[in-house]
Amino acid sequence: MPPVKLLRQQDLRPTIPSMKLVLRSIDRSPLGTVEIDDSESPSRVTTHLDREVFLDWSGARDDQRHLRRCPACGFGTLFRLRRLPQVTGFIIVAALAMALAAVLGLATSFTFFVVMLALLVLDLGILLAAPQSLECPRCRSSYRNTPIAKYHPKWNARAVAELLNASDENASSSRDSRGRSESQEKMKR
Ligand SMILES: [Zn+2]
Repeated sequence: MPPVKLLRQQDLRPTIPSMKLVLRSIDRSPLGTVEIDDSESPSRVTTHLDREVFLDWSGARDDQRHLRRCPACGFGTLFRLRRLPQVTGFIIVAALAMALAAVLGLATSFTFFVVMLALLVLDLGILLAAPQSLECPRCRSSYRNTPIAKYHPKWNARAVAELLNASDENASSSRDSRGRSESQEKMKR
């Protein structure tokens, strides 16, 4: 039967990684989280907060289908951000506690050395394994679990502020896409 055959073919498809979108409105209020197939570009999604969000995918992906601009607000530059898991905070506290113990003479220097080394290795491992996400500087929407192109700048508070200021000035002088590309040019320099 043809329908059964079709179903089987779908089952055999390799699983497509799903992109996680943590969406915010233009005033940066949270809209909720939604996961979509990385191969799909839905123009309307419903988040876990039951909010309906419209996404604009025109020009949002580059030739390699990597995310290039923000589909939530249309902003042209996205920043790379390495998201550190909560455990990193715990390790810092543990390292401080060990240092304090050493100062107070509660730990022998050998124990101290071994534990500090273990913490350092663990912290480095976490840092290297921490996944990167793409962040929109304007609406602060976050795009996770998706391949990231190399041309995105690293998240940097000063660069973000400068870019937003430049785009505001351009938006007030000319309300077309020219202003946006000018601010992008400014970023590259
Ligand atoms: Zn955005």
